Amino acid sequence: MFDFRIDLHCHSNFSDGALSPEALLEKAKAAQINLLALTDHDTLEGVKVLKEINRLNDNPITIINGIEISTRWKKYDIHILGLDIDLDNTFLNELIEKQRIDRLNRAKEIALRLENLGFQGIYDKAYQLAGHERLARPHFAQVLVNDGVVRDMQTAFKRYLGRGKPAYAPTSWVSIPDAIKGIHAARGLAVIAHPLKYQLTRTKLHELIVDFRTASGDALEVVSGEMTVQDVEEVGGLCLRFGLMASSGSDYHNEGARISLGQQRKLPLHCIPIWEKWNIKQGTL
Ligand code: MN
Ligand code: MN
Ligand code: MN
Repeated sequence: MFDFRIDLHCHSNFSDGALSPEALLEKAKAAQINLLALTDHDTLEGVKVLKEINRLNDNPITIINGIEISTRWKKYDIHILGLDIDLDNTFLNELIEKQRIDRLNRAKEIALRLENLGFQGIYDKAYQLAGHERLARPHFAQVLVNDGVVRDMQTAFKRYLGRGKPAYAPTSWVSIPDAIKGIHAARGLAVIAHPLKYQLTRTKLHELIVDFRTASGDALEVVSGEMTVQDVEEVGGLCLRFGLMASSGSDYHNEGARISLGQQRKLPLHCIPIWEKWNIKQGTL
């Protein structure tokens, strides 16, 4: 094995990240990352730009085409990463288009609810802040902070945007099997993102993984952003138990989190890294 730095989960300003693909590439190079997957929420637009900028760069890195697909499983929103996907696959692009419309409708519903609570012009403010129509709850939370309605993002979720709160709008995301089908149609690998972030009981988490495995899912994100050694070991153990590969990423959005791009922990040694599936020539790393 040769030593290299990877990050298979991060966001650009094509979803809810702070950096443009160009700035993200510079950051990745400064962090000496050799293998990078941009995984914006339900869009491939940022990846296309990133790849073009990387192609024109004097010293390009290896970019893996990625996406983070929002899915609905029971009453939970579960994120499924698609890695090493074909950007032009029709089936996957149709699924993304469905998500785009659902996301737009949801954003309008959230804005309507906030306006009914007396906060005016919310949709336009969130749209301006994001710079695109793929609005998500963090964008609305930021507007509430900017307008002085709440102290911080957390409070915005606690009072207004979280599940069961007055401005919460339910999602109608695709199912996990449909997300996996889309990813596999595009010849990619499907990964459950940050398995410990859904606050599932252990029984529920195992149920989720069994359903994912039954639908031919490929891997778990064993390392995701900031995690304790124990948590990494636990998710690594789940890979062994359920016969899944392991992925690793920072889930970088901006400098707000403690773990920056490519700074996440290493995978446990017994894990089978997802990147071993890819024909990455040693010379390119
Ligand atoms: Mn995000
Ligand atoms: Mn996520
Ligand atoms: Mn993410």
